[in-house]
Amino acid sequence: MNATDLAAESRALRERVAQFTLLANSVPVAIAYYDAPNSTCRFANRGYAEMFGHDELSIVGLTVAQVIGAEAAADIQPQVDAVQRERRRAAYERMLLGPDGRLRTIEVDLIPHLSEDGEPVGAFVLIADITRHREAEAALRESEERQAKFMQASAEGIVFHKGGTITDANPPLLALIGYTLEQVRGRQTLDFVAPAERERVAAVMRAGDEISYDSMVLHASGEPIPVQFIVRTMNHGGEVVRMTIVRDIRDRVQAQARIQHLAHHDALTGLPNRLAFMERVQARLRRARTRGRRGVPDALALLFIDLDHFKRVNDSLGHSVGDVLLQTVARRITAALRSGDLVARFGGDEFVLLLAGSPTAAAVQDVAVKLLAAIGAPLDVEGALISVTPSIGVALYPEHGQTPAELIKHADTAMYRAKSGGRARWRFFEPAMAAAALADLAMESRLAQAVRDQEFVLHFQPQLALADGRLLGVEALLRWAHPERGLVPPDDFIPVAEARRLILPIGHWVLNEALRCAVHWQRLGLLNVPLAVNLSTLQFQAPGFVEGVQRALHEAGAQGAMLELELTERMLMDDVASVQAVLARLKALGLSISVDDFGTGYTSLAHLKDLPLDRLKIDRSFVHDLPGNRGSAAIARAIIQMGQSLGLQVVAEGVETVQQRDWVRDQGCDAQQGLLAAAPMPAGEFEAWLRLRQMDEAAG
Ligand code: C2E
Ligand code: CA
Ligand code: CA
Repeated sequence: MNATDLAAESRALRERVAQFTLLANSVPVAIAYYDAPNSTCRFANRGYAEMFGHDELSIVGLTVAQVIGAEAAADIQPQVDAVQRERRRAAYERMLLGPDGRLRTIEVDLIPHLSEDGEPVGAFVLIADITRHREAEAALRESEERQAKFMQASAEGIVFHKGGTITDANPPLLALIGYTLEQVRGRQTLDFVAPAERERVAAVMRAGDEISYDSMVLHASGEPIPVQFIVRTMNHGGEVVRMTIVRDIRDRVQAQARIQHLAHHDALTGLPNRLAFMERVQARLRRARTRGRRGVPDALALLFIDLDHFKRVNDSLGHSVGDVLLQTVARRITAALRSGDLVARFGGDEFVLLLAGSPTAAAVQDVAVKLLAAIGAPLDVEGALISVTPSIGVALYPEHGQTPAELIKHADTAMYRAKSGGRARWRFFEPAMAAAALADLAMESRLAQAVRDQEFVLHFQPQLALADGRLLGVEALLRWAHPERGLVPPDDFIPVAEARRLILPIGHWVLNEALRCAVHWQRLGLLNVPLAVNLSTLQFQAPGFVEGVQRALHEAGAQGAMLELELTERMLMDDVASVQAVLARLKALGLSISVDDFGTGYTSLAHLKDLPLDRLKIDRSFVHDLPGNRGSAAIARAIIQMGQSLGLQVVAEGVETVQQRDWVRDQGCDAQQGLLAAAPMPAGEFEAWLRLRQMDEAAG
């Protein structure tokens, strides 16, 4: 080999070394070569040298112990020996504290270098830094552990499944569905879902949605349990795992049911409420319409029940008594119904009924009559016997309304008419009532104005002794001097005034005006009998009523003897003890008390005899039929006898004919009031009438 060849060869060698070094330095593996006899480093790539705090040149010639430290060298000696002895590769893993102070995990590969005759002459060392790999593994293991811990600790059910097959489930889940882990593992999740829910759950699984939704699982007993699923997809060491949190929502479902119940029921009576009722009526009405289209006639009957004078019970006996009363009424209505009838409390003392089936008018009437009796029966509340009667209005589909709202409104209107017709009765709706209700509404606002503007006047009607024609009394009768309509009779506006409590200011005016007139005529020497004023129930029951009368007397400068109060039977029936007390106080002021419209109520003799009364007035409806009508005659006769036996004066109202007058006189009636004697007159006219009488009497 000549010098040129040598030079060329050494250049080629250098190039190969450079190539090798470049290659060795660019692989992500640390590489070194140690020779066999004394384990001296002959080569190291940069990665290897730097791993031990050297560079590629400085490391050459160092022993293993010098490179990796005596301790580490001793540690790996067995592996090195094995490579030398057995001439095969050895691999091991160890921890290494790098020159940068970081602890890393390295995987070491020792590859024996054998001579041509098979003797070990050295060893290649390949080192891979597997710190990241090991860290990832540890993290995975840790997350698995965490997950397992979490699963065990969670109070909520958790299940893991892969492609629909259960891999794991925690104790709360197993307790919820009543299985052991062995029984569920490997089974299909869908097996534990209620059949009706399976399709939905399968769709969610297919889509891989991460959502939460309400569903049902199946308990081992077969009982479905409402749950909420919260589903998550997790990547678990490269595998897609579905985790589902299964939350027991039985409590929530129950609470919702309770809320639903509360929303649809009245708390006091437990009856369905307005909302529930309207829903049912709506549904029932839809069915009726559908049937109607198919030519099947269908009818609906809606009853509106309102208790008479309930407010008074509440005010006088307290709310707890009122509550008991409402509960009793609710029970009584329910008991009076047939199955399928729906009753609801509409609020306050209002109840509504939807009758089952397709009732006829006659059937509705039966129900109404039955309810009147059932509700009105006396009731013992804390030792006191009280009774409230209902007023009932009925609206029928299809004749009285087409929508639930319309039917309710019209049943309400009919109820209102039943009330103004005297209460404790029932009425079918009539179209005229709607017009009347509308007129009432117009009247109502107009009436309030009339009260402010004092558009009222009093007319006066005398009561004459049947024996000798003496003046026994005078009744003041109210009229509304309406600017356009002229004189409006009291029956046209008093029911509205009562319903809207306008009767209180009106009654106040009547009392003052009557007393003013009475005092005026008394001072003129024209009047020495009491002037009677009609009272409405509301006035009589208003707190401070007696004091109000006393004040009115005082302000007018009138003695009590100048005033008579006309009460209806119904006012007297209410609460015996308190009525007695009020009457006693009125009597103490010197007033006279008469019972108006007598015979239309049901006052018992026993009741009457305990009250400090002066007169009974036979209702003009009986007098009207006299003497021909035997029923009216019997009633009139009974009233007169009752009055006589109690020592009360009896006045016949509405006496229009001589026959009527003669009949009542012959029966022993004391006085007549009516057109035959004199029609009601305005104040001026009545004053003239009084003067004329006085002159006649004086003339003898
Ligand atoms: P009422 O207390 O029964 O009054 C008697 C009614 O009979 C009066 O009707 C009177 O005009 C009428 N009348 C008198 N004589 C005859 C007759 O011969 N035949 C007939 N058919 N009727 C006769 P009015 O004035 O229309 O009063 C009707 C009702 O209005 C009264 O009935 C009374 O309940 C009520 N009312 C009248 N004034 C007042 C008042 O100031 N306050 C209250 N709360 N109600 C009153
Ligand atoms: Ca009267
Ligand atoms: Ca009367």
